[in-house]
Amino acid sequence: MARYHIETYGCTSNRGESRDIERRLRDAGHHKVETAADADVAILNTCTVVEKTERNMLRRAKELADETADLIVTGCMALAQGEAFADADVDAQVLHWDDVPEAVTNGECPTTTPDAEPILDGVVGILPIARGCMSNCSYCITKQATGRVDSPPVEENVEKARALVHAGAKEIRITGQDTGVYGWDTGERKLPELLERIATEIEGEFRVRVGMANPGGVHGIREELAAVFAEHDEIYNFLHAPVQSGSDDVLADMRRQHEVSQYRDIVETFNDTLGEWTLSTDFIVGFPTEDDDDHEASMDLLRETRPEKINVTRFSKRPGTDAAELKGLGGQTKKDRSKAMTELKMDVVGEAHESMVGTRRDVLVVEEGTGDSVKCYDGAYRQVIVQNATDHGLEPGDFATVEVTSHQTVYAFAEPVDAAAVDDGPAETTAD
Ligand code: SF4
Repeated sequence: MARYHIETYGCTSNRGESRDIERRLRDAGHHKVETAADADVAILNTCTVVEKTERNMLRRAKELADETADLIVTGCMALAQGEAFADADVDAQVLHWDDVPEAVTNGECPTTTPDAEPILDGVVGILPIARGCMSNCSYCITKQATGRVDSPPVEENVEKARALVHAGAKEIRITGQDTGVYGWDTGERKLPELLERIATEIEGEFRVRVGMANPGGVHGIREELAAVFAEHDEIYNFLHAPVQSGSDDVLADMRRQHEVSQYRDIVETFNDTLGEWTLSTDFIVGFPTEDDDDHEASMDLLRETRPEKINVTRFSKRPGTDAAELKGLGGQTKKDRSKAMTELKMDVVGEAHESMVGTRRDVLVVEEGTGDSVKCYDGAYRQVIVQNATDHGLEPGDFATVEVTSHQTVYAFAEPVDAAAVDDGPAETTAD
C-alpha cells in the first residue's frame, strides 16, 4: 500500500475526478499524506484553461518530480498536451484519470477486503469473487493484509452477479487480488466456469470485465479462458496480466511465480483465439537486482507484445518486505529507465488509439465524463469519449454504435453513428 499526495487545479469537474481517484485509492488501502516529500507517489491533476495556467502546471510538475519518488500527471492538460511534460523534461507518467488508482502501487495487486460484498456504483457492479493470493512476491506488502486464497463457491458468485444485474448493473467488474487463481484453494481453478455461467444463466443485457489476473495463474487456464471470452459477447475481450519484468532472473528475485515464456504463451493463445482484444500489463522498473540487460529485456517484451494499457511503476521499498532489504539502484538509474519505458509506452498506446480512428464500435455507456460527455467501452474494453451526450440522448447504461473520430495520447473520441443506432440493447459487431 502506498502513501500518496494529490494536488488538483481547475474547475469543479476536475475536483470531482480527484475525489473519485481519492475514493478508489482509499478503498484499495492507500494512505494520503500532506506533502510530496512524504509520499511514494505524487499526483498532479492539471488544468489547461489559459497559457499562464499551463506554465504554472509545468513548473509545479517539475517541483513535484524533484520532491517525490514517482510523479503521475493527469487531468485536462495531461490529456490534451501530454507531450508538453516530456518536452519540458519532467519525469512523470501521463495518465487518464481512470488509470491513476491502478498506477499508484508498487506492482502490488489490488486489496480485496475479507468478506467484501458486491457494490453497485451507477451502472457498474463491483463483484469481489475471492480474496487473497497464492503468491509471495518479495516486494509486496498487500499480501500481509490479505493472506491465502479463499474462494466462495461458483454458485454463490453467480447469485451475487445476478443480484447486481437485477439491481441495474450493466457492467460487472470481477475483482480480487488475483482473479486467475479463483478456486485454487479448492483444487480446481474456476474462473472460466464462473464466466460461462454468468454469461449463460443470467438474463439481461450486461458486460463483464475480468480484473487483474497474474500470468502464473492464467497460464494453466489460458485456452479455456480465451475460449469463454470468444464465445460470449457479454465478456469484454480484456485481460490484465501484470508481467512486471522481461527478465526471468528479475522475476525470480521478485518471486513472481511465472516466467516470461508463460506470459508470451498467454498472449499467443489470446491472439490466436480472439479477433480484437486488449492486453493490459504492468512493469516495475528499477527493481534492486535489475541490470541494464534486464531493463532492455523488459523494453523488448513491451515492443513485442504491444499491450494497450501499461502501468509503469518505479520500484520503491515498502517497509517489512524482503525486497526492502536489498541494496537499491541509484535514483538516477531508476529515473532514466522509467523515462525510457514511459516514452515507449506512449508510442505503443498512441499507435493503438490512432488505429481506432475511423472504425465503428459497439459500446456500452458506463459513466458520465467531464462536461456533457460520457465514457463508453467497446467489446475489447477500449474507452471512447462521446461529447455532447445530452444532444445524442446518451446516458450510462445505454448501448450504442459509434464511430471513432479522433484521439489524444491516452484516449479516443467518438460520435454516435446515427440516432437510430442508439437504443437500449446491445449492437451486433465490434469494429469494421
Ligand atoms: S500476487 Fe504478489 S503482489 Fe499480488 S498480492 Fe500476492 S504477493 Fe502481493
